[in-house]
Amino acid sequence: MTVYLVGAGPGDPGLITVRGLELIKRADVILYDRLVNPSLIDHAKGRCLKVFVGKAPSNHSMAQEDINELLVRYGREHDCVVRLKGGDPFVFGRGGEEMESLIGAGIPFEIVPGITSAIAGPAYAGIPVTHRENNTSVTFITGHRWDSSRVKDTYSSLSGTLVILMGASSFRDIGKDLIGMGYDPKTPVHAVNNATTYAQKVISGTLEEMRKKEIPAPSVIVVGAAQPAGGDAMWFGRKLEGIRGKRILVMRAPEQFESTRTIIEGLGAHALNGGHYELTPIEWDRHELESATHVVITSANTVPLLKDDLLANRDKSYVAIGPGTKRALEGIGLYAEMPDEYTSEGLVMLLRKIVKPQDKVVGLRSSKASNVLGSMLTELEYSEVPVYDIDFGALFLGAITEADVIFFTSTAMVNAIAHMVKDGQIRISIGPQTTAALKSAGIPPHMESAASTIESMIGAATDLIYQNNRK
Ligand code: SAH
Repeated sequence: MTVYLVGAGPGDPGLITVRGLELIKRADVILYDRLVNPSLIDHAKGRCLKVFVGKAPSNHSMAQEDINELLVRYGREHDCVVRLKGGDPFVFGRGGEEMESLIGAGIPFEIVPGITSAIAGPAYAGIPVTHRENNTSVTFITGHRWDSSRVKDTYSSLSGTLVILMGASSFRDIGKDLIGMGYDPKTPVHAVNNATTYAQKVISGTLEEMRKKEIPAPSVIVVGAAQPAGGDAMWFGRKLEGIRGKRILVMRAPEQFESTRTIIEGLGAHALNGGHYELTPIEWDRHELESATHVVITSANTVPLLKDDLLANRDKSYVAIGPGTKRALEGIGLYAEMPDEYTSEGLVMLLRKIVKPQDKVVGLRSSKASNVLGSMLTELEYSEVPVYDIDFGALFLGAITEADVIFFTSTAMVNAIAHMVKDGQIRISIGPQTTAALKSAGIPPHMESAASTIESMIGAATDLIYQNNRK
């Protein structure tokens, strides 16, 4: 019976608070906005109800009054309701109105502040919003429904840095008004678009110049604060530049390849296909599944292959190793629990928590998977059933040898191409099992991804290339 107004941070999923993430994991209901990074919602438990109430600038998918009402209703019905809002809930987020509705209805609430884009945007562009030498104050301004007459009274006496949110489409007027109020037309302006994400772009110029430029939304526009060392301060931009143009080898099932390619191309890098997995169903004993209470699925690839079997056993408790697999199960209408850590160790911890002595756990896996879970779960009744063979069809040797970076996403991939990997190629491992396979093949990874997602592997590659470039 508590509603938490939680700041999700500005975009980079690493910029949510520890408290915010804990609440996402605990939530029965999450209501989230358009600017919230979707990967944060992946941390929710299987049976959490996720409601998108996102607002696009001109096309509000849900009116604020309706959101307020929903919060009150869910707040009455559920123990833990998370209202997840981009940045900080009280910075131009209408969090104040949501809190007032909760107070009005007598629903207990808590506020979990978030890192606002007004601070994070400038930070990721290397712009200190205050500086001992130049700026001793900072003002957050909304550009939404910019009204010249009102603005003149409010802001004419301001000095210091202005940080304007929701001002991209009206910056022509905003800039004109600022100059009219006495701002020097040469005042530096930086618009940070898609701040803190891999799509971040910074558009810079003088106030006069920026007035005439197209500024895409969403942007945080900083007026009157300089990057102290010019281009050298653009640390995040430089990091992104390191991976631009790089050729990244990906070897996954065809649908996975396509979604991975979209992410990689969004960065200005190239996805090379070294060959697709082919999954061939094999004969297995359905009784193993029917007699189980808990079913562990460790790869999203398993789901389409076993759809009919899984749906015929929808009364079981499903456990997915990570968000991709969980999404695949949800796609066919099955809820799944997911561990805190997307690794075998994480899975074992979760199973120890939820499985009772009389229960029986079955893992449906590839014939090539190593029985790591079985060896860790000796105290539970756990059986592992191979349900498909995984193999690579044709390998595309050109792609494998030309790649600058290799995303090792499975032990099967390690086995297929280990002998072709060259010294200069950057090897990123998706997780501990793949790392172990790489080590035993004599080619340890340069970095292991923190989570078993492509976004996280990109993060690892980006960090590594950035480090190497500085050496
Ligand atoms: N509560 C949010 C702001 C909501 S208003 C916060 O504290 O950040 C929405 C505006 O926030 C957008 O129009 C844009 O100006 C800014 N914004 C939010 N996320 C952004 C991002 N990743 N990059 C640039 N601007 C962003």
